[in-house]
Amino acid sequence: MHELFANNKRYNSFVGYYKRVYGERLQKLVLDAGFTCPNRDGRLGYGGCTFCDNAAFHPNYSTNDKSLHKQIDEGIEFHRIRYPRAKHYLAYFQAYSNTYSDLAHLRELYENALSHPNIVGIVIGTRPDCVDKEKLEYLSDLSKGKILKDWHRDLQFQSLDKPIITVEYGVESCYDKTLLRINRGHDFQTAVEAIKITADLGLDVGGHFILGLPGETKQMLLDQCAVINSLPLTSVKFHQLQIVKGTVMQKEYKANPEEFLSFGSMEYIDFIIELLERLRPDLCIERIAGEVPPRFVEETPWGLIRNVQLIQLLDKRLKGKNSFQGRLL
Ligand code: SF4
Repeated sequence: MHELFANNKRYNSFVGYYKRVYGERLQKLVLDAGFTCPNRDGRLGYGGCTFCDNAAFHPNYSTNDKSLHKQIDEGIEFHRIRYPRAKHYLAYFQAYSNTYSDLAHLRELYENALSHPNIVGIVIGTRPDCVDKEKLEYLSDLSKGKILKDWHRDLQFQSLDKPIITVEYGVESCYDKTLLRINRGHDFQTAVEAIKITADLGLDVGGHFILGLPGETKQMLLDQCAVINSLPLTSVKFHQLQIVKGTVMQKEYKANPEEFLSFGSMEYIDFIIELLERLRPDLCIERIAGEVPPRFVEETPWGLIRNVQLIQLLDKRLKGKNSFQGRLL
């Protein structure tokens, strides 16, 4: 069964998806385009989600005092050492809520990134309550080649003449009780509707989930897989909850640590396997863990283990257990 997956993997990795669909690995370059978030600027609230310190989630090269093209150039340089074979890149609008503006401003930013000669698409990270039909229809037209005529005509890239567009929603949890507790400012149904409209318009849709939010049990997270399977998502990202210094969640954690799941690194890998076994095989797995730089956290319970090592452990463990994504479906 696992031979179905690319790269000799036992799960449907997103890197493999890009290789299968576009013939090569595509590297995302994180951008900060100067957005804010309605949960921070007062439209919904000022404090933000209780776990959030955006600085902890994006690399040094992406700061909004630089133009988008400069951030892209520096991102390419940064990644050249790690992935020397990457030739084409996706501009990843990651910091804060990247659809939280009027359409004219969004168009300017997205089309500016797409005008960079090494960029073959954009990934837009946002909240599900920061999109509307007009913005999504524009993105859909963009992905169908209706907006940028003659775009990158000379690009040596798998006969691509239209940009790859993905919208990535922070869903975080399928449980309203959790969303309320982390001060998310929207409910799960808002995420369901945004994902459905986006997928109906033919766009790739990603969902971001945090594992270990306060009050959630392992069983709740396993049960969540059926809900995730029912959504028209192209890909998912899982992050273990990392308690960032100075956040409301840190205070909560110090006061009531028993309300948080804690995983050792091997225990986490085994838990990821339990999740994978329950996820539909066509769902791409983009990430299994997050990497907040050590200076942002008080504790590093897994030491300084990198994602790439976790993925190696996962591959080995899946093989050892003779398991694979979707095994229990
Ligand atoms: S929606 Fe995103 S940027 Fe806004 S507070 Fe929550 S995690 Fe932070």
